[in-house]
Amino acid sequence: MDNQKPKNIVIIGGVAGGATAAARLRRLDENAEITVLEKGPYVSFANCGLPYFISREIQRRSHLLLQTPEGFFGRYRVNVRTNTEAVGIDRQKKQIAARSPKGDVTIPYDKLILAQGGSPLIPEIPGISGDHVFTLWTIPNMDRIHKFIDEKHPLSAVVAGGGFIGLEMAEALRARGIGVTVVELAPQIMISMDAEFAAMIRAGLEENGVAVRTGVGLSAIHQGSVDLTDGSTIQADMVLLSVGVRPELTLAKAAGLEIGTTGGLLVDETMRTSDPDIYAAGDMVEVVHKVHGKKVRVPLAGPANRQGRIAATNVLGGAMTYRGALGTSVVKLFNRTAASTGLSEKAAREAGFTVGVAYAFKDNHVSYYPGGRPLALKIVFDMTTSRLLGGQAYGEAGVEKRIDVLATALHGRMTLEDLSELDLAYAPPYNSANDPINIASFIGQNHIQGYSPLKTPAEALREIAGGTVLDVRTTGEQSKAPLEGAMHIPADEVRDRLQEIPTSGNIYILSKDGFLGHTTLQILKAAGRKGVYNIAGGYLAVRWTDGWTFNA
Ligand SMILES: Cc1cc2nc3c(=O)[nH]c(=O)nc-3n(C[C@H](O)[C@H](O)[C@H](O)COP(=O)(O)OP(=O)(O)OC[C@H]3O[C@@H](n4cnc5c(N)ncnc54)[C@H](O)[C@@H]3O)c2cc1C
Repeated sequence: MDNQKPKNIVIIGGVAGGATAAARLRRLDENAEITVLEKGPYVSFANCGLPYFISREIQRRSHLLLQTPEGFFGRYRVNVRTNTEAVGIDRQKKQIAARSPKGDVTIPYDKLILAQGGSPLIPEIPGISGDHVFTLWTIPNMDRIHKFIDEKHPLSAVVAGGGFIGLEMAEALRARGIGVTVVELAPQIMISMDAEFAAMIRAGLEENGVAVRTGVGLSAIHQGSVDLTDGSTIQADMVLLSVGVRPELTLAKAAGLEIGTTGGLLVDETMRTSDPDIYAAGDMVEVVHKVHGKKVRVPLAGPANRQGRIAATNVLGGAMTYRGALGTSVVKLFNRTAASTGLSEKAAREAGFTVGVAYAFKDNHVSYYPGGRPLALKIVFDMTTSRLLGGQAYGEAGVEKRIDVLATALHGRMTLEDLSELDLAYAPPYNSANDPINIASFIGQNHIQGYSPLKTPAEALREIAGGTVLDVRTTGEQSKAPLEGAMHIPADEVRDRLQEIPTSGNIYILSKDGFLGHTTLQILKAAGRKGVYNIAGGYLAVRWTDGWTFNA
């Protein structure tokens, strides 16, 4: 820290990034004057917890209010001005114009930290301002929804947007006994994940009574119903909008601060904006993606908090850097969890990587110990360097553990070789001797080395004309979901029935989860067959991939 510490630091925005920055400033400098301007009525509230108050899993509203202005002052001697909106930044005079019920004020600063977050996108459609139409962003938003449900007893709801907040709200509304339809404009929900994971998640939602419509948007909202862009109408006593986040940049733009290529506020790795006396953190900024190095916006609480900490440190002359985000996220969906980190397969291809993928469909712990729950894991890697690029998981248990390990591996720029050597905790109630991450990395290594070449379900589908799908599932497994046009020889019979397998054209092996496909592939290779591929993830991945049809 230098000796010329600024004495007067103003923070605009008092929740995730702003509150963290304020507390950090005080811990680093007992003498600084620290002021937080917050336009809402609450400082440092738990916005991530709002859906769980609606669902009633969190019963007490006060549990969401993490700090009060008085509490902040008592502990940190930070002046928090709630209901005070900053309306202008005069960079020459280094002062903020702010508006509050008590009147307009001008607040000088030596250094300024912007932590204004974002605001929910509101589509411009007829009926959008109805009193049964909601967003969930703040405590007052939450109160309005809660009151509406208590007083009006809605029977049906439409949630517009199938991202994590929309899906959390779908679950919350179901918990209140409301019939829910999620309407998503994109072809799939959870667009940060690949299509097969979105399909698994969708099936899980449907199993819990949530209807899902994709590829359509809202075109009009009425009392009791909404019209969709495909001409259909669905019942909706209430509508929850969750269609995206816009960074809050009005002030920054008016002050002439530079905006980045993604539409977020431009900051350098010290979280400094284009004005050396103004730093910024959280949903309003754009940052570097740790995997592909491009600029991205990652509106998540973890990055906001860490960026706030770094901004505060550097405002006081420190030299901390923010090296980028991975977009690691996790969402509880009824009895299951979905999580991802880094790049999806789709995002990795768009970023120009030569992509490989591997799946592990395992129980969260050994199957002989009671209570194992199925877990779907996918890793995405670079075929050229073997570097991990991303991971996705879905299941009832052990999901977030795997994703956190993969996030750590991504931070360390690990390769499949590193992952295959990871020494992860094992005892029967917790894991298998080879964690699903070890297994997925073995599969990826075997693929890269050409020992057991894979085709993704989508690649295999594109190529199978002229080739043969060899279904090696057991007769019991195959008869439950036969694949039309496939040749069925159970894996254990392949050695004795080799002569039945065509000798021309490629062979695409379909097993239950890819494991016996790998074994079968070695048998065929040893018999001199060429052009043999194992379908990655087997039936458990293929069944969620568009274009494959199994007879029921
Ligand atoms: C319902 C919900 C659930 C979420 N769940 C998760 C989750 O599970 N995991 C996760 O990682 N993330 C989650 N998020 C996202 C996470 O909350 C945000 O990424 C994080 O809060 C961003 O922090 P921030 O400091 O940038 O902005 P915010 O926390 O939004 O704070 C910005 C504050 O600035 C104030 N402000 C803006 N302009 C002005 C002005 N001109 N003057 C004064 N004050 C101003 C706003 O009133 C606001 O309170 C969730 C968000 C919501 C809404």
